[in-house]
Amino acid sequence: MASHNTDANCIFCKIIKGDIPSFKLIETENVYSFLDIGPIAKGHALAIPKYHGAKLHDVPDEHLGEILATLKKIAIAQGVENYNILQNNGKIAHQVVDHVHFHMIPKPSDSDKEGLVIGWPAQQADMAELKQLHEEIKGKL
Ligand code: 5GP
Ligand code: ZN
Repeated sequence: MASHNTDANCIFCKIIKGDIPSFKLIETENVYSFLDIGPIAKGHALAIPKYHGAKLHDVPDEHLGEILATLKKIAIAQGVENYNILQNNGKIAHQVVDHVHFHMIPKPSDSDKEGLVIGWPAQQADMAELKQLHEEIKGKL
């Protein structure tokens, strides 16, 4: 069993431990999932690694592997056709709770008041810049 890092002051670590109640959905060796207490759509759920890390890169790979399958099961169980999987890292990227968490947010087709609202300020890429950036990133991977 992979060892789990915990933070005694973290609200999600307390939920995993059972010190704070939650509406648990699926629990596996490395993942805990539950309904979001401040849903932006009916069925809004969270899946978290049991290993405490603030941001995605703080959590070792072996603690992340089951998360997508967990979210997929929760989406299938609810029969949602349209939904977003969201994971925020850092305050300015809208992260409020500093324990990695993935949202499954249904997007009902019959409501424009529920679900994720996304700003997507796309711009046409400069191909020369994109090529240079590609080389830079590839060189570090
Ligand atoms: P973030 O903005 O950090 O990506 O999202 C944090 C999410 O955690 C929010 O959707 C918020 O409603 C949820 N949340 C915060 N505290 C609790 C809690 O004590 N219980 C549950 N179930 N969800 C929580
Ligand atoms: Zn934590």
